[in-house]
Amino acid sequence: MPMRIWPILSLLVLAGCIPAGRGSERRAPVRRPVAQAASTLSDAALRQCQADLRRAGVSFQALPDRSFGGGCDATAAVKLVAIGTPVTNLGAMRCPLALAFSRWVAQVAQVEAERTFGQPLRRIESFGTYACRPVNGQAGGRLSEHGHANAVDIAAFVLADGTRFTVKDGWGGVDDRVRRYLRAVHDAGCRRFGVVLGPDANAYHRDHFHFDMASGGYCR
Ligand SMILES: [Zn+2]
Repeated sequence: MPMRIWPILSLLVLAGCIPAGRGSERRAPVRRPVAQAASTLSDAALRQCQADLRRAGVSFQALPDRSFGGGCDATAAVKLVAIGTPVTNLGAMRCPLALAFSRWVAQVAQVEAERTFGQPLRRIESFGTYACRPVNGQAGGRLSEHGHANAVDIAAFVLADGTRFTVKDGWGGVDDRVRRYLRAVHDAGCRRFGVVLGPDANAYHRDHFHFDMASGGYCR
């Protein structure tokens, strides 16, 4: 691994999407300042984003800006109502994330399902979007992008015929097609989201793909 990756890698380990109560024994001490609020989106950019969602045939509800304390907030956020494929557990998402995610579902996850399995997806299962997670549970710890409604975790896929496969079992599993599919949708995510983390990134992501819109440009 090139040395230059280490700073961002350590940051990502700290900034990852570790639900409270999971993997606490692995958590390293963190001495980072509390993250700033997610970069603001101008009114014009938000309107454009919402127009893009409508143009994509997405049904959504615009959410009022909210601040939840602890540095957590959800600004310029929407609640996706219908994007053409049912996705479980979606809460508030910043509009650019919602747009990138809706396109990833339609243009990547569904297209790859047809290509790989010869059938569409019936459903995608997520672990959620907004969650106020001070990553290591310590005051002063860096917030996950989930604390800004700027990340989504994808855990499983269900095909039209009812076949269900998870990131956790499928990524390193014996089913070649599932392995290929999961890598295809993961890798395509890297061209659409700011940061993509999966089972190869670290143990925290062994059971889901983390997609966020941070300006990290990191994919693993
Ligand atoms: Zn996550």
